[in-house]
Amino acid sequence: MENTHSKFIHYAQAIKFKKQVKHVLGNNELFLQVTDEKTAPSVILDGQEYKLLQFHFHSPSEHLLENEQYALEIHFLHQSANSELSVVSLLFTLDKHNEAMQLVIDLVRNDREDDETLIAPANLLLPEKLSAFRYNGSLTAPPYSENVKWVVFSTTSTISPAQLEAMRKLNLLNTSRDEEDIKNRTLSAATHGSK
Ligand SMILES: [Zn+2]
Repeated sequence: MENTHSKFIHYAQAIKFKKQVKHVLGNNELFLQVTDEKTAPSVILDGQEYKLLQFHFHSPSEHLLENEQYALEIHFLHQSANSELSVVSLLFTLDKHNEAMQLVIDLVRNDREDDETLIAPANLLLPEKLSAFRYNGSLTAPPYSENVKWVVFSTTSTISPAQLEAMRKLNLLNTSRDEEDIKNRTLSAATHGSK
């Protein structure tokens, strides 16, 4: 997968993830962590490689596309060899069932300590046609690191209403509380293609 802004390496390969919970400021943040960093896919941005560490969700979406908020947003958190961060984001509408997302839901629902599930991020979670915005910002949750490179797909994906409800019950949906930096940031299609 490639476009003018970013290049994804091995994103279509199935790799193992496991559920992790981090306690941050009295909140439990649930995310899916890459279990073997040697096999982690990566994204190349401006010649710099960032390896995938984990992905997690926000509901409703933190980004707006043309002033529209979405039911769900996924963040793929990446880190470079010198600890710089990059987040790849994708928005979801409530519509068709998402087979990929069901793997995530089933893994978390089973909830056994050492459970791992093979997931290919590209096959399951990214739109077929890539179109994305790029900007530099900060993390939207503690520790709010600065100089984070963001890639936000302007192409959206879908999950079913039942899937979103299942995710809510499993506490997979982090809120956008305390995320002032980016909350409701609007991306206009007019900026697409600009650097
Ligand atoms: Zn996030």
